[in-house]
Amino acid sequence: MDFTLSPEIEDYRRRVRAFVAERILPLEADPASYDAHENIRLDLLDKVRARARAEGLWALSMPKARGGADLGRVGMAACYEEMNRSIFGPVCFNAAAPDDGNMWVLNALGTEAQKDRWLQPIIDGQARSSIVMTEPHPGAGSDPAGMMRTTAERKGDRWVVNGRKWFITGAAEASHFILLARTSDEPRRELTTFLFHRDTPGWELVRRIPIMGPEEHGGHCEMVFDGLEIPDEDRLHDVGRGMKVVQTRLGTARLTHCMRWLGMAKRALEIAHDYISEREAFGSKLIDRESVQLMVGEAAMDIEIGRLLTMRAAWKLDQGDFARKEVSMAKVQVADTLHKAIDTAIQLCGAKGYSKDLLLEWMYRYARQARLADGASEVHKMVLSRFHREQGLDFWSWGA
Ligand SMILES: Cc1cc2nc3c(=O)[nH]c(=O)nc-3n(C[C@H](O)[C@H](O)[C@H](O)COP(=O)(O)OP(=O)(O)OC[C@H]3O[C@@H](n4cnc5c(N)ncnc54)[C@H](O)[C@@H]3O)c2cc1C
Repeated sequence: MDFTLSPEIEDYRRRVRAFVAERILPLEADPASYDAHENIRLDLLDKVRARARAEGLWALSMPKARGGADLGRVGMAACYEEMNRSIFGPVCFNAAAPDDGNMWVLNALGTEAQKDRWLQPIIDGQARSSIVMTEPHPGAGSDPAGMMRTTAERKGDRWVVNGRKWFITGAAEASHFILLARTSDEPRRELTTFLFHRDTPGWELVRRIPIMGPEEHGGHCEMVFDGLEIPDEDRLHDVGRGMKVVQTRLGTARLTHCMRWLGMAKRALEIAHDYISEREAFGSKLIDRESVQLMVGEAAMDIEIGRLLTMRAAWKLDQGDFARKEVSMAKVQVADTLHKAIDTAIQLCGAKGYSKDLLLEWMYRYARQARLADGASEVHKMVLSRFHREQGLDFWSWGA
């Protein structure tokens, strides 16, 4: 078993690390760099994105022929972790959710014409995108196939969409949308996926939902569809295969969350390390106290457990496996680890950890979504228990 990264991946990883240190951390440290939603200002983002692209550190998950680096999930795991040492990092490299997952699924399942029209502008940084699936009660949430209310009805060579969606990340800035709608009541064939542009009439952005954490660009929005017409050529994949599209997107997208969150968890410990290395109490540095060392050691170990689960899932995905078990285990574990690492860091930094002088409070508010978005932890555990019921002792196997 060899965990050594290939020389190519290692080269990208080192260059991403250097770029974050030299070009992104100074921006992150300047309060003037933040927009009203606690993310990097769009004018600054454009500049730093242009620089990342010029240095060949751009859309690393995408094919080289389309301007990426074709890294594969193992390479992405190594690089995305480095990117999220900064809270601004991933979006600067065009590796942030939801664009990253949207690019992935368009590249995997789109026709060449669809890739040219819908994918290439996202890769080029000219368009942002959203995935439009979740609905308010009584619609789709944890159980999208069973509960989706938004319908797409076929009329000749067009589809007419009616319904309501919410928590659609990035919708206020996006121009390319990937929409899931019910096209049939036939079990396992309920949903179909469509692509539409923001300028198409027949839908409305009702509100940007206020949330507890800092926001991605374009927020988390509620959208109403009232007769949106989509030509059949803008259907992604086959009729009734919406859940296949969802699984194709989410397998990798969930894991990229883990990759990024591990980078953020490491940064939280880094901030705590700086504080406890300097701060004294009762005649010694905090870092020299055994109880403090136990806290740091446990958080560091949790992060490494998350890295191993994430890397194994990444490797399995790269072998062509769906890696459903492995991705679910990584998602549950890393979501908890992120929260716990930041909580530990806040505790170690005392009152300062609770202040806005440090990034930890930003991270803490952000981290709460990790156990909800892209599948609540309980749903992933339910999936794991299904596998265990079916596979028994073979639940734990080696190999691809
Ligand atoms: C920050 C953020 C960004 C998001 N971005 C997007 C986006 O871009 N596009 C999009 O379509 N959606 C998005 N979502 C929605 C997200 O995918 C859903 O929140 C998630 O799938 C859960 O659905 P729900 O909120 O309807 O929860 P519900 O289905 O209402 O579930 C509520 C709770 O019930 C419990 N639960 C549910 N099922 C089970 C079960 N089988 N066993 C045990 N417990 C269970 C869980 O604890 C769960 O948290 C986002 C959500 C957040 C928080």
